[in-house]
Amino acid sequence: MSLTLDEIQNFKGKYPRQIWSLFFSEMWERFCFYGMRGMLVFFMISQLNFHEKEANLQYGATQAFVYAFTFVGGLFADKLLGFRKSLFWGGLLMIVGSLILAADPHKFFFLGIAFTVVGTGFFKPNISSMVGQLYKPNDSRADAGFSLFYAGINLGALLGGYLCIAIGKGEILGGTISEAMRWNVAFGLASVVMVISLINFIFTQRRLGTIGLQPGHPLAEVKAAPIPKWKEYGVYVLSLIFVPIIMKMVAKTEYTDYFMWTIGPLTLIYLFYEMSKVTASERKKLWAALVFIIFSILFWGIYEQSGGSLSIFAAKNLNKDLLGLDPNGVNNSGGAFFIIFLAPIIGLLWIWLNKRKIEPNTIVKFGLGFIFLGIGYYVLFATRLFADLQGITSLNFFTLALLIITLGELCLSPIGLSIMTKLSTKNLQGMMMGMWFLASAYGQYVAGIIGAGLATAKKGSTNYDVLITYTDGYKQLGLYAVIAGVVLILISPFVKKLMQDVK
Ligand code: GLN
Repeated sequence: MSLTLDEIQNFKGKYPRQIWSLFFSEMWERFCFYGMRGMLVFFMISQLNFHEKEANLQYGATQAFVYAFTFVGGLFADKLLGFRKSLFWGGLLMIVGSLILAADPHKFFFLGIAFTVVGTGFFKPNISSMVGQLYKPNDSRADAGFSLFYAGINLGALLGGYLCIAIGKGEILGGTISEAMRWNVAFGLASVVMVISLINFIFTQRRLGTIGLQPGHPLAEVKAAPIPKWKEYGVYVLSLIFVPIIMKMVAKTEYTDYFMWTIGPLTLIYLFYEMSKVTASERKKLWAALVFIIFSILFWGIYEQSGGSLSIFAAKNLNKDLLGLDPNGVNNSGGAFFIIFLAPIIGLLWIWLNKRKIEPNTIVKFGLGFIFLGIGYYVLFATRLFADLQGITSLNFFTLALLIITLGELCLSPIGLSIMTKLSTKNLQGMMMGMWFLASAYGQYVAGIIGAGLATAKKGSTNYDVLITYTDGYKQLGLYAVIAGVVLILISPFVKKLMQDVK
């Protein structure tokens, strides 16, 4: 028998049981996504003979488009498809994308990537919105649930990020798979795990009650007229039309700039239009959501140095004093590794604090997120104290910084997902979640600009100079983060007012 929403939301214990199924679907999706993402730059340079700079720009463009499309995916979910159909459609596109890459990654590289970009846009925001619906609007256990879900995200990221590129390079299964086929198998693995994600979701649906049904479905929570079939199919066709467009835009990176300068203002105008249609109280909550979204751009701008300047720093300025591990490997996967262990613990900590009535509210959690981020960057700055004359410093100390930054991420990223679901009206859930991720697109974009700024000063300089330039930059970023954290805590009474009953 199908569950009612009340039965789902009135669960006993710490987590609703459906969260585990969503955890696994998202875990496999992130495996596919991060698996591919991890191969992009390396593949472009070693297989497609791109220059380093070109490859990095193209990588940045894909990241920006991926997260920008979450807005489109969320919007269509709210208006026409519902979360389940959007997720399924997105998953199918991701499977097609990775199959195309598996068939011939050299020939169809940008086509495969474009499918993945659109597919992720439909999948990613909507699964997070469904997690939010497992909770009543004021259930204090939601942040813990999102923290657990976030551990799933990172488990997938860690496995996919490690395995796919290792297969592509022949570091694992090198003896079994012939050299010519390695990249095909690596991209093929991404498609296999995505199939697992969708199969898992098919089983999950049975226990989701009314969550994620298409608008207009007789059992849907928000009552609306049924959506005509042509509109639904129209979305599918439209998203396919986007594929060649994205393909062109990713291939020519100057388009990314135009795109980024237009999409943000357009989405804001659209949000203001939607805000004009809701009640005053709902409008205030949407304003609060916007405050969180805007601050998160700065967070990701600083945080995402990991893919850019920090990977250069890791390659040039770190030794192997942490168990002999490769510094770039640690930089790429250390964060995800820490999150898998810390996320459930921090989630339980929120529940524990809540029982004692001392759980910080969301704005303060965000503020703490920034402060941890800032301290982490100060520790990165302090790595220079352990440097030798060649400018090589301690990986151990770097890893400590990573741990602190991760604590910051856990105070902001899962909490951000959670608060989006609480502050959005029922009919704008997908779009607001999309906006949350769109902020990540801007964060990535800003991160690239910051990273490029850090890199310019180092022409013709020694390795020690590089260390000084980078660490000076990190000190600066640390300061910005701490300031943002303090500002957030200072404005918390004001934002709290906007949030009203939401914590
Ligand atoms: N790493 C997280 C994920 O993949 C957060 C991404 C983001 O919001 N920038 O979901």
